[in-house]
Amino acid sequence: MKNVPLAIDVVEAKASRIDSVDFENLIFGNVFADHMMECDFKDGQWQNPVIKPYGPIQLDPSAKVFHYGQAIFEGMKAFKDDEDQVWLFRPEANIERFNISSKRLAIPEFPKEVFLEGLKTLLNLDRDWIKKGFGNSLYIRPFVIATEPGVSASPSKTYKFMIICSPAKAYYSGEVRVFFADKYSRAADGGVGYAKAAGNYGAQFYPTNLAKEQGYQQIVWTDASTHEYLEEAGTMNIFFRVGEKLLTAPTSDRILDGVTRRSVIALAEEYNIPVEVRRVKVAEIVEAAKKGELKEIFGAGTAATINPVKGFGNKGEKFELQDQEDSYATFFKKKLMEIQYNKAEDKFGWRM
Ligand code: PMP
Repeated sequence: MKNVPLAIDVVEAKASRIDSVDFENLIFGNVFADHMMECDFKDGQWQNPVIKPYGPIQLDPSAKVFHYGQAIFEGMKAFKDDEDQVWLFRPEANIERFNISSKRLAIPEFPKEVFLEGLKTLLNLDRDWIKKGFGNSLYIRPFVIATEPGVSASPSKTYKFMIICSPAKAYYSGEVRVFFADKYSRAADGGVGYAKAAGNYGAQFYPTNLAKEQGYQQIVWTDASTHEYLEEAGTMNIFFRVGEKLLTAPTSDRILDGVTRRSVIALAEEYNIPVEVRRVKVAEIVEAAKKGELKEIFGAGTAATINPVKGFGNKGEKFELQDQEDSYATFFKKKLMEIQYNKAEDKFGWRM
């Protein structure tokens, strides 16, 4: 990371595409804002970043990303308050995790200052793409891919860093029921589960499709060796409310250290909601459900913020959860969104 140039070249789009977008009927991740950030790594260092009109990029068919999956990404959001100010939520946590992921995939780390400066420049250019109102946001997708041509199985010597942005409403529509994994696994000890490696997601599609055939939208992954402990969902960390107590698995090298998860735990502590970060057994959740003590399950992740789970399936048994009047999921979602949209005091210093 030597001699990193901070000068960001900006090439503005000749005309905006914004008028062609129906912001009321967005499908998550299908439309992209006018500009993107691009920065290449070659000769052992990151080159001058450029912000330019969104559009296709050209790669050699032998580029290593296509063959060995040397690719990582992040997911974060920008929000707009009633005064037209744009806010990021804990962006430094995402940048840190971006580089943790890069390191695991033998990708050179990206300088934090350039990331943040580039992102701010990009958001200022495309700020009209961020709509006011609870639930509206601009989903930000930074990523790095290995671009070196050649199919030898070795780390690439060249990379492309990019940031693209997509206007979003809510991520999930409809009710979510989850399936507790009892055969397939997402991550293994010593593996890449804690990284946002592209391949982690590609490998989930097939088992998730099988779960969908059974009426489940998501899988809650369990530990690969015993399938006895609940870990996380496809793109969310997962919380269980048993009685008044909130349970979630500790992070490990199999679990992504979610920014939303961390924020929920901090909010729980702040508002005296008893929270236990410990391994959560499938058997204890099933037993709690049978006794009527399992009040809620919810996912926590940037895309959906908090996503309540209506029911779950485990080894052929199906369970439904009752709506709670004093729902923790609703409480955390409200608290998080009030901070994100600058409608509440930011005690933790999460807004930027
Ligand atoms: N787990 C996985 C596997 C994810 O992809 C995500 C989304 N980044 C999360 C958890 C939630 O993390 P965050 O709250 O940082 O979005």
